[in-house]
Amino acid sequence: MTSAQIRADSLALAPRPMAPLPGLSTFWTTRAERSGYRLTSTYDETVEYLRRIESTSSLIRVQSFGASGQGRNLLLVVAAKDRAFTPEAARASGKPVVLVQCGVHSGEIEGKDAMLALLRDIAITGRQQDLLDHCILLIVPMFSPDAHERRSRTSRINQNGPEETGWRTTPIGLNLNRDYMKAEAPEMRAFLSQVFTRWWPDLLVDTHTTDGLDCRYDVTWGYNHGPQGPASVTRWVETAFEGRALPAVEALGHVIGPYLQLRDWSDPFRGFSSGDTPPRFSTGYPTLQCRAAILVETHMLKPYETRVRATYDVVSAMLAEVNARPQELLQAVADAEVQVVARGREPDPAKRRIALSSQLTSDSVMFMLKGVRPTWEWSEIAGAPVIRYGTAPFDTLIPRFFALAPALTVTQPAGYLVPQEWQSVIERLVLHGVRHRRFARAWSDTVEQARIVDWKAASESREGHHALSVDRVESVRRWRTWRPGDVWVPLDQRSALVAVQLLEAQAPDALARWNFFDTVLEKKEYGEAYVVEPLARKMMQADPALAKEFRARVAADSTFAKDPDARLEFFYRRSPWADPEQNLLPVARALRAPPEDALAK
Ligand SMILES: [Zn+2]
Repeated sequence: MTSAQIRADSLALAPRPMAPLPGLSTFWTTRAERSGYRLTSTYDETVEYLRRIESTSSLIRVQSFGASGQGRNLLLVVAAKDRAFTPEAARASGKPVVLVQCGVHSGEIEGKDAMLALLRDIAITGRQQDLLDHCILLIVPMFSPDAHERRSRTSRINQNGPEETGWRTTPIGLNLNRDYMKAEAPEMRAFLSQVFTRWWPDLLVDTHTTDGLDCRYDVTWGYNHGPQGPASVTRWVETAFEGRALPAVEALGHVIGPYLQLRDWSDPFRGFSSGDTPPRFSTGYPTLQCRAAILVETHMLKPYETRVRATYDVVSAMLAEVNARPQELLQAVADAEVQVVARGREPDPAKRRIALSSQLTSDSVMFMLKGVRPTWEWSEIAGAPVIRYGTAPFDTLIPRFFALAPALTVTQPAGYLVPQEWQSVIERLVLHGVRHRRFARAWSDTVEQARIVDWKAASESREGHHALSVDRVESVRRWRTWRPGDVWVPLDQRSALVAVQLLEAQAPDALARWNFFDTVLEKKEYGEAYVVEPLARKMMQADPALAKEFRARVAADSTFAKDPDARLEFFYRRSPWADPEQNLLPVARALRAPPEDALAK
């Protein structure tokens, strides 16, 4: 026995988790606890604390899943009984895998301090050890360690402590909670390839601190319930988390409510929406991989201690629920996978119709907001009324918009075909664990390609992109030959929805939206006016219908009529010199699977 184990064994047990820890030696208190929740540990202190737990307990392994942009180790803590410290051992145990992700926004760091305490209570004091009876727990304590070390007292203007906290984005300015699909940050790429698609967690819990209105909730929660994801995992969140874990959290004295996405941030009375979450977010992405996901957001104005305790209690209640009924979570994930794989094999196109995105309907239900009374004061500085929140409790009914209807739908193809030169696309398929195969020999077939007819690039930069809004596409059928090395993406796989959402031009986080295909929208060759004009004359002579169409356009469209370049372009576009590949999404929708002998093993 080490001296640390002797010390751990002599601990007096507190009546409930996270009570003031009487008798807990400072050796095992976290930095947050020792400081009375004024402070949060640094990266180095966190690593040191985790290593200390690991060296004392046989239940914990601290692993690195890669390096941050600035070269810090990205930490994954595995907590498991029976030494199930690898994805293979975890699968062999038959237990669900729960992943708790902390500090995706490093300024919102209570998840880390709560999880350090929970790991201590599992592995050292033992009072939460039964949470590992029927579950494997993974913790990413600092998803964005470089941002975690960009510490200051002025990182989070809306937030009540800790005294110094980290920054929202990685050092190259990327918000990891917008990066799940395009996967540009080194931290996200490491997470997807080394954690998510190796461990395949059945449930992901993402911990944050809110911004937004003042209210009495110390913690709020959310999940994705859009029609894009499989229904079984949504139902599990509603039954197990909302139905059973939440009341347990309330019983501990927390005021817990749904995440309050106000429709008008200056007026809570206009209500809030609980919409769908696009896959760029932590709660949108796992559902595309047939997994459950829950967002936990503590309230920014509550003291840090309250927020750490709330996160601790929500995660513990969730883990207790998973332990009580591990098969329910496993079954929900298995059902989701069966449904998605079956759709990939479905011969009837009508049964392959799926939602790419959804929108809130105008239906609302009244929701009793546990608020504080707002008033509005005219501000000379703002030149507008500014909301002020009092302290007196104020319960009021406000509308909650929850019902979602499909916005864009698409018929899932037999699979996708990706030319090998689009390496940035193939790289994403690999990162997301999307199963795919290379062609071993040439294969030709008629395929569908999307011609992007109307699009707009956003004028404002978001995540370093002027994101493309693809407003209209036409489906074009073409005979195409695929070369050895090109990629076939079948859809009878659990990651099919990820492939669809990456590769369909109009999906909300399609690679097309994130500018991966902008080069195909650019005109690469031009005709000089003195070359195109005589060509146009010949084309009009040879094709009276074309001449008629041109004259009609000139008569009807005065902008066109006044633009010599547009008038000549009309003919260039219809000439054999125009680029047939322009505006065509290079990824094709297959009408049938290629023959087995065309594909590499
Ligand atoms: Zn956040």
